[in-house]
Parts: sequence; structure tokens; C-alpha cells
Amino acid sequence: MAECIFCKIIARDIPATVVWEDELTIAFMDIGSVNPGHALVAAKPHVENIFSLDQRLAAAVFQTTAKIAQALKLAFAPQGMTLYQANGSAAGQTVYHFHIHVVPRYEGDGMNLAWPVKNPPRSAIEEAAAKIRAAL
Ligand code: 5GP
Ligand code: ZN
Repeated sequence: MAECIFCKIIARDIPATVVWEDELTIAFMDIGSVNPGHALVAAKPHVENIFSLDQRLAAAVFQTTAKIAQALKLAFAPQGMTLYQANGSAAGQTVYHFHIHVVPRYEGDGMNLAWPVKNPPRSAIEEAAAKIRAAL
């Protein structure tokens, strides 16, 4: 897609620090790195978000994500690793080309995601599960 920054990276129209690529995926360093090693795994075809991933692409992207996470563990020996993946602006997505962040983590590194637990009643959880099953 012409104006998409990640498509430009994939096409090598703009520079990026690429660490892996195969037929369906690419991994490159995030320019706005949160911690050393922070990488992005993107689908090569322009798909906006997780809702446009077919099974083959979904499998390929997660395979590369696991590979990159394992390499980051060896390279940086972090205390933890966070995968972060946003779909839509309400979820925090800023680049509308599907990607997964792979972020080496350390105690007190300041990365934060608010997790406002609501503790709904069991019946509400069951109702939500029924809606999901009906949509599968
Ligand atoms: P999102 O907010 O959509 O989950 O993540 C987009 C990420 O892309 C951000 O962390 C941002 O730093 C990164 N990013 C945006 N533009 C570029 C770029 O031109 N090159 C690289 N390497 N990363 C980018
Ligand atoms: Zn794109």
C-alpha cells in the first residue's frame, strides 16, 4: 500500500534495521525502542490488523515472533519479554499494518499497561463466553 510506512520498509523504499525476513514476514528494530532489542514482527502483505489475517499468515507471523523472542532472550538475557499487539486506535495502534512488538523486559523499566480488573460476576463471564462460541 503506497502510503504505508511498513510497506515502504518491506519494499526497501525507506531504511530500516532488518533482523529477519522470510516469504511472509519481516522483523526489524522499532525506531521508538522501549528497551534495547525492541523489535517488530510484521506481515509482509499489507494487512491492517488481526481481523485481516488468514490462517497461513497468522501462523507465519507467530512463528517469526517466537524466533525473534528466543533470539532476544539469548542476545540480551532480559528478565522478561512482552509481546504487544494493537488493533485500532482505541487499542493503541498507530501504524495500520499488522505487527507484533517483541520487547525485552526488566524490573522497573517503566513500561506499563493499565489493567483495570472489573471482577464481573460469573454470569457475565459465562454470557461473554457464549457470545464468543456463537461467533466462532
Ligand atoms: P503501534 O503503535 O502501531 O503498536 O506500533 C507502531 C510502532 O512503529 C511504534 O512503536 C513506532 O515506534 C514504530 N515505527 C513508526 N514508524 C517507524 C519507522 O519508520 N521505522 C521503524 N523502524 N519503526 C517505526
Ligand atoms: Zn502496509
